Amino acid sequence: MEFETTVAEIIRRNSEVKSFRFRRPASFQFLPGQFLMVTIRINGEKKTKYFSISSSPTESEYIEFTKRITSHEFSKALDNLQVGETVYLNGPHGKFTFTGEYQKVVMIAGGIGITPFMSMIGYCTDNRIPAAITLLYGNRSEESAAFKEELANFMQKNRNLRIVHSLSRPEETWKGRRGHLDLTTIREEVPDYQDASFYLCGPPALVEDLERVLQAEGIPEDRVYVESFLGY
Ligand SMILES: Cc1cc2nc3c(=O)[nH]c(=O)nc-3n(C[C@H](O)[C@H](O)[C@H](O)COP(=O)(O)OP(=O)(O)OC[C@H]3O[C@@H](n4cnc5c(N)ncnc54)[C@H](O)[C@@H]3O)c2cc1C
Repeated sequence: MEFETTVAEIIRRNSEVKSFRFRRPASFQFLPGQFLMVTIRINGEKKTKYFSISSSPTESEYIEFTKRITSHEFSKALDNLQVGETVYLNGPHGKFTFTGEYQKVVMIAGGIGITPFMSMIGYCTDNRIPAAITLLYGNRSEESAAFKEELANFMQKNRNLRIVHSLSRPEETWKGRRGHLDLTTIREEVPDYQDASFYLCGPPALVEDLERVLQAEGIPEDRVYVESFLGY
C-alpha cells in the first residue's frame, strides 16, 4: 500500500533519536518487524529510505518509525521535518517478523536496531503471547539507549520478557553488563540458547558477526532471522 500522509507527532527519544508518527489508515495492516519505504522531498526532489515500524500493530490509531539522526542529507531533512508536513509511505515490507511462532526467542539489537523489536515486543505483550523472549540490547551509554523506559514498562507487563542492556562505554555508575554483544553475552545471559530462535537487527557489521557466530555454534539457519540497517 502506498499513501501520502502528514506527520502527526514527533517524539524525541534522546539526543540523537526521533520517532515520527502518522495517523494509521484503517486499511493499513502489518506484522510486527516489517518496514516502510519512506519518501520525503529534499530541495524538490523525492528521496526514499527504509525504516522499520517501531509501533505495534495493536496500536490502531498511529504508525511510527524511529530514526537515528546523522549528518547525512536524508537524515538532516527528517530532523527538520515538522508536524503537518507531507511524507509518502509505502509498505509494509519484509519477512523479519515475529508473532509468537517460537517458544524461546533471543532478540539481539545493536543501537537503533531496537526499532522492529519495539513492534514485536509491544505486540507480544498486548496479545499475551506466551513466548519466552530475551532481548539483548547493546548501546554505547545509557543515554544513547533509545526506548529504555518503554522497554522497562513492557517488562513490568510481560512476565515472559527479559531485557539485558549491555553498554560499551558506560558511565562509571553503571551496574549492568558492559561490552559489545557477542557469543559470551549470549552464553552468559541465555545458557539454553541452543534451542532458541534468534532475531538480529542493527548495523551490518554486528548482524554479520553474530550470524557467523550462531552458524558456528550449529544453530540451524531457519532459526536465525536478520535485518541489517545499511547506512550505519
Ligand atoms: C530494512 C531496513 C530497515 C531500517 N530501519 C531503520 C530504522 O528503523 N531506523 C533507522 O534509523 N534506520 C533504519 N534503517 C537504515 C536507514 O534506511 C538509513 O540507511 C540510515 O538511517 C542512514 O540514513 P542517513 O540518511 O543517516 O545516512 P545515509 O545517507 O544513508 O548515509 C550513511 C552512510 O552509509 C552509506 N550508505 C548508504 N546507503 C548504503 C547502502 N545501501 N550500502 C552501503 N552503504 C550505504 C553512505 O554512503 C554513508 O556513508 C533501515 C534500513 C533497512 C534496510
